[in-house]
Amino acid sequence: MKKRICPICDEGTLSVVIEDVATEHKGTTGSAPMAHCVCDTCGAESAGSSEMKFNRRAILTFKRSADGLLPNYEIKRIRKKFNLTQPLAGKLFGGGPVAFNKYENNDVAQSEAMDGLLRLVDTDENSYWNLVKIKGMSDELMPIYKQVVFPSKITQPSSFDYSEKIVGIEKGKLIRQARFSKHVSSQRKKPKENGWYAN
Ligand SMILES: [Zn+2]
Repeated sequence: MKKRICPICDEGTLSVVIEDVATEHKGTTGSAPMAHCVCDTCGAESAGSSEMKFNRRAILTFKRSADGLLPNYEIKRIRKKFNLTQPLAGKLFGGGPVAFNKYENNDVAQSEAMDGLLRLVDTDENSYWNLVKIKGMSDELMPIYKQVVFPSKITQPSSFDYSEKIVGIEKGKLIRQARFSKHVSSQRKKPKENGWYAN
């Protein structure tokens, strides 16, 4: 790692210290890990841009938790569940191409509306496909989903015509008993990690 010289004395070397600092948000108290630098020569404490960024993210993590919003890694999990890139997630759920990058990096918290939408599609896949249909993104998102649902490693039973099921989903009509996922779980008690929900 590159040595950082103290901006105060111009001599000493800076080392990063991370401490839990008591914090409060809308009546919720707790602590957040906060970073600063200490000079080994003059002892001055300072914070550079990387420490400020770290601290901003730590505070946002705390606020999110206090507000009852999904943490960043949950947002990533839901996005990955549908095999969406960050720009595609921003197009489908709203917020623009960099919104999910910001949510997942803890740079910006999602709105309550976005939080609710993500929880909804996570618990009810019909809602996801209805949203895809409403946004006119079926052609764009169906092939992506196909990669997740039908990974090549799973051997398809010859009697199972999954292409018919794809058409069904594309029309926004997800018929539960026709879903390939149920078929898979009845075939395989314990799907592999890279099974039908890859990542
Ligand atoms: Zn110094």
